[in-house]
This record gives sequence, C-alpha cells and structure tokens, in this order.
Amino acid sequence: MTSLLDRDRGLLWHPYAALDGPAPYAVRGAAGVRLDLEAADGARFDVIDAMSSWWCAVHGYRHPVLDAAAHAQVDRFSHVMFGGLTHEPAVRLAEDLAARTGLPHVFLADSGSVSVEVALKLAVQVQAARGRPERRRFVALRGGYHGDTTGAMGVCDPVDGMHALFPGLVGTQLFLPRPPAADTVDGVLTPESDPQVDAWIAGAEELVAAHADTVAALVVEPVLQGAGGMHVYPPRCLTALRRIADAHDILLIADEIATGFGRTGAPFAVDHAGVVPDVMCVGKALTGGYLTLAAVLCTSAVAEAVTRSPQRALLHGPTFMGNPLACAVASASLSLLDDGATVARIGRELAAALGPATGLSAVKEVRVLGAVGAVQLSGPVDVGAVTRAALRRGVWVRPFRDLVYTMPPYVSSTADVAAIGAAITGAVEEVHG
Ligand SMILES: *Cc1c(COP(=O)(O)O)cnc(C)c1O
Repeated sequence: MTSLLDRDRGLLWHPYAALDGPAPYAVRGAAGVRLDLEAADGARFDVIDAMSSWWCAVHGYRHPVLDAAAHAQVDRFSHVMFGGLTHEPAVRLAEDLAARTGLPHVFLADSGSVSVEVALKLAVQVQAARGRPERRRFVALRGGYHGDTTGAMGVCDPVDGMHALFPGLVGTQLFLPRPPAADTVDGVLTPESDPQVDAWIAGAEELVAAHADTVAALVVEPVLQGAGGMHVYPPRCLTALRRIADAHDILLIADEIATGFGRTGAPFAVDHAGVVPDVMCVGKALTGGYLTLAAVLCTSAVAEAVTRSPQRALLHGPTFMGNPLACAVASASLSLLDDGATVARIGRELAAALGPATGLSAVKEVRVLGAVGAVQLSGPVDVGAVTRAALRRGVWVRPFRDLVYTMPPYVSSTADVAAIGAAITGAVEEVHG
C-alpha cells in the first residue's frame, strides 16, 4: 500500500513549503497535549505538542468539553447562512467576546487573515463616513505579521512579507521601525525607562504626523510580535500609539490573533498597557483549535460611524460567516479559560526550563512572555535537524528562521513544560552546539 506520505508528496502544498520539499510527519492521533506522529522512515513519535498547533489548541486535543460542544451542535445543525438568519451559538459567542474585550460590536470572520481584511476595510469606511475618504493607508510596525491575504500582507513586514514579489497586488503602506525590546523575568514584563523607547516614540509621532492626512489606522500586534520574530516590546510604545492615533483621529487596530485569550499573561496583550483599541481582531485560540474562526470587535463610536454612512453596513459577508459549529466550540473553549494563573505558572516554568539554553554557544537570547518561550540563535536554525532532535526527546516544535520557540497548551503539566524546555535546549545543543 502506498504510504500516506507518498500520496501527500507532490499533491498537497504545505505552508510555505515546496511541493517536493522535505516530507512532513503523519499524524496518527492526538489527545491531551500529545501528538502521535509517524516519520517517512516509519519511525513513530509520541510527543508533546509544544506549538499548540500554531497558538490554537490551548486546551489540547480531544478535550471532553469541546468534543461535547461540537457533537451537541452537529446534532442540531452544522451550518446555516448568516445573511438574514441568526442563531444561538453566534449570539452567545458575540455576547461573551464583547464582555471579555469591552468592545460591544462583533463581526465574525472565517480566519485571522480575513478578520484583518475586515478590520482594514472597516477603518477605511469609518474615515470616509467621517468625511475623510482620502484616509485609506495604514501605518504598521516593521517585523509585524498580520496574515497572508493580500490586504493583510500589505501591513506585514515588507521584507519578510515579500511585498516585492507581488507588485500592484499588495498595497504600499507606511512602517514604523520595530520597537525596542522589552525585558521579562519569569515570563512577566519588567518596568522600563529606556531612552531608546522615548526616541522610538518620538519617531512614531513624527512619521504619523507627517502622513496623518492619508492614514486610516495604525495596525499593530500589541506587545508581542509573533510570526515576525517573537519580539517583545514595551507596553509604553502601545500607550504612545494610542495617544498618537487619538491626536490625529486615526483608528488603532490591535491584532490579538496570536496574543489573545491569555497567552501573554494578560487577558489580551493590550491590557499590559491599559489601552483600549478602536478595533480588535481575535482568532487562533478562539475555538481551542477545533475549527477556523476569527472575530473583529469594535467600539460604539466606530460602529456608529458605519451605521451613519450611506452604506450603513460593514461591507463584508463571507459564506461561512458565523458558522454555528465553530461558534459553539468557541463558547465552550472560552468557558475553560481561567483568570491567568495557568499561564503565569507556565511562564515561570518555561523561564526556568529554557534558562540553560542561554549558556549554549549558538544561542543569542532566550525570551519568555506569558506562556510563550523563544530561543533565538545567532544564525538560521537547521529546521529539519532540530525538529528531529526534539522529536527524539519527546517534543514537537516547528522552528523558523533563527528561532526555536514554544507556546505550550494551557493544559500542559509542570512535567510537560519541563520536558519542552529540556527538549528544546537539548535539540539546539545537539544540532548547533
Ligand atoms: C496567525 C496570525 C494571523 C493570520 O491568521 P490566519 O488564521 O492564519 O489567517 C494574523 N495576525 C497574527 C498576529 C497572527 O499570528
């Protein structure tokens, strides 16, 4: 019988991978924090998923509460259109999200990238509604990541996002330099009064003031830039951006798709700065990793501007908007979140477990914020070799560029976190020294 990996090869594209690239690992099963994987050579690995399937599977796999929510909704109905119809799962989820964020209006989207598209369109509509149709560009941060659709790509880092490959398709936006790095101890931000931060803020003020007439919104990942390099920056930068946006009647869009739902040690990363954005995007962990779903939330002022405009509507409406199955599982997933105690514990344990990696010659820096840990090397990671070395130590990681990183499921035990730290440190030492 032809193996699954042989059938996959040349047939399926994987994220940012060549059709004839290195073979993936086949998933034979998944439960709790563990994945049962099979390699191309037939080797089997029963491992901890240190990636939470890219930030999503915060409650692990086959969680009884999430499974039950999915089964119960399948027995009612799985999907109905949202145009002209509504249902309990969407209303309940929106009520919960509004209560958690303090943002009272909700647009349900199919994925993180789509929610970013909706947020950008929303900002342009709001500016037009306020009589400023020429305000339709965006200011974003270098080193940012906001998704792979073309509008979202436009606000990603222009070099990492390979804007040059898609001339005309990807908009030309304005970029602030990456904010200076923040320090953390045991996964918690430490107070900072770095003059470099003041200089960064002054530069931001200058750039925005120079272009305010054409800018609809500032778009940022608050405090932690994820896929753009696991970069932690001071909440003070965010507070300054809020002030700058207000001074020029520009909207502040917080992309909390990676950072939302407690991952960074606060309910949302904007909470580190006490900032309320005009628009917030959430996704990834929203359904506990069961189904694709994202949401765009906004203030009353933003929603009222849209309602007062000639169009009166937010001009977007995907086929699978408000998918009941995804909404039902999302509500169940949100009900499982605690007050932050779990992430605080994982942060302390990650800081201890990754600490020894700082002593390795190949390692430039170790960073931990909340339940996110990153080991940065001085050069590119040998992704295949480090992945395999970590698998042999019982842990699944997916390094990129110069980073081996982890965001463990919230259901990880103390022993699981220790195993993740030891596997990452051991794998980096084995492969890179
Ligand atoms: C993953 C991510 C996105 C894109 O979400 P998709 O669901 O992959 O489309 C956008 N912004 C941030 C910050 C992300 O981490």
